[in-house]
Amino acid sequence: MLDSYGRKINYLRVSVTDNCNLNCKYCRPYTISNKKNNNITLEEICTIVKGFVKTGVDKVRITGGEPLVRNDILTIVEKIHEIDGIKDLAMTTNGLLLSKYAKDLKSAGLNRVNISLDTLDSKKYFEITKGGSLKMVLKGIEAAKKAGLSPIKLNVVLMKNFNEEDIIRFINLTKYEDIDVRFIELMPIGTLKDWSLSKYLNNHIVFKKVPNLIEVAPLDISSPAKYYSLPSAKGRIGLINPISCKFCSNCNRIRLTADGKLKPCLHSNTEFDIRKLILAGKNIDDFIQDIIINKSKEHYLEDGRYIYRQMSEIGG
Ligand code: SAM
Repeated sequence: MLDSYGRKINYLRVSVTDNCNLNCKYCRPYTISNKKNNNITLEEICTIVKGFVKTGVDKVRITGGEPLVRNDILTIVEKIHEIDGIKDLAMTTNGLLLSKYAKDLKSAGLNRVNISLDTLDSKKYFEITKGGSLKMVLKGIEAAKKAGLSPIKLNVVLMKNFNEEDIIRFINLTKYEDIDVRFIELMPIGTLKDWSLSKYLNNHIVFKKVPNLIEVAPLDISSPAKYYSLPSAKGRIGLINPISCKFCSNCNRIRLTADGKLKPCLHSNTEFDIRKLILAGKNIDDFIQDIIINKSKEHYLEDGRYIYRQMSEIGG
């Protein structure tokens, strides 16, 4: 279905939990602790996805928090995969539990994974994630490759005085492997906004470090990433620049938070409580259509205002 600016909205990002097994410094403050559970249920997720499929959504990404900490994650994948009309089912994960789950995720119908990894140095990884094991993530990446979850994309958030030296190492991974490395500009979000503002790094640094990158055509024109590659490399380098650029004119997505709110724009505090409607036994079809039609033209927050929610509650 087209929104009122002619954009085809075909992508739903579903945050299945705001619980996580990491506390990345820019994403999840210590004030958020893992809860027993008020997360959206499997049945609610399926009802909402089916509602969106009726409007033409054919791509779903499962995210979180960390989606793999949900006990019923394999059933969630299986049930979404079974919905007629879903052509692409992906997941964003920190990869820590992938070595356990990759094979079963693939069997349940997951097509591919994006894995978040900001550094290839185990001490720095431990520091930024407040306790994570790089070794487990690397094992997870291998398991994902072996299971055929493809293409694999690595999400690398760049931070000043933290991972500049990792840029070349990440880019070198694309030389011989069919892997996409995507550098993401750090967004100031939730209570961590001040820390993030102080660590912000413009993605232009990637060209300073590696000037011989060649622009390549995007595989998907609605992707927020601009793609490049090293000459004759197998993989690609993506740059996602939410701060130094805007990509609203190609935006094709709606987000569902783990507590059942629809967010038509990441960079806005506007949310709509779809779970309340489901709990009241109401039909959600018109509600979904209204949200798509009224999706804002571009993101706008008044000067000095930021998104209230933490990224770990939205799902990236
Ligand atoms: N736990 C999963 C993971 O680590 O990939 C999924 C959730 S995480 C919120 C999704 C993505 O958002 C990750 O790639 C993460 O790096 C990114 N992210 C989180 N906070 C961010 C911020 N402030 N700016 C830019 N990207 C951010």
